[in-house]
Amino acid sequence: MSLRRSAWRTHERNPHQKAVRRLDDAVSLMVRERDRDILCVLSFENGCDPGNRMQCGHFIQRERMATRFHPMNVNKECAKCNTSHVSGYRPDKGFPYSLAIDAKYGNGAALFLYSLSHPKHGLGPSSDESWDVSEIEQLISAASLGFRAYAQLYYSLRPHHRFPGEVVHSCAPATDMA
Ligand SMILES: [Zn+2]
Repeated sequence: MSLRRSAWRTHERNPHQKAVRRLDDAVSLMVRERDRDILCVLSFENGCDPGNRMQCGHFIQRERMATRFHPMNVNKECAKCNTSHVSGYRPDKGFPYSLAIDAKYGNGAALFLYSLSHPKHGLGPSSDESWDVSEIEQLISAASLGFRAYAQLYYSLRPHHRFPGEVVHSCAPATDMA
């Protein structure tokens, strides 16, 4: 067994990493259900075919744990966008995705998420934004009950993650973004 493979197996056995992956899966299912009646989050930009396979895409990349499970950071996104250079949180993707986030959740929402995930810029909180296994397990359970239960629990665990300017109808049809 190579060292690389051994390291991977150790990684896989880490209870925290396992919990994170299970929550990723639970959130993905929940978000696709939440957004079932709207288009890919980048449709306004890319004219996505509604028949494309849909995934749960992240505005701020998943590696940023502060916003990995944030209700506004996860959105239904077609596989074509999610795997293309315009979809990753890279300089060439950030602007259209930022517009989509603001259109969906309210003006300033994109900057709010960016600030939460980039405290080094002095825009966001400096507190520890990691998630422990207990919190993750609670979120997995809530996600299985649906988005409303998930959001309620999420914001009770992280009150400062609630965007003050969030619009009431956060799941408005994507066609309204034009
Ligand atoms: Zn798309």
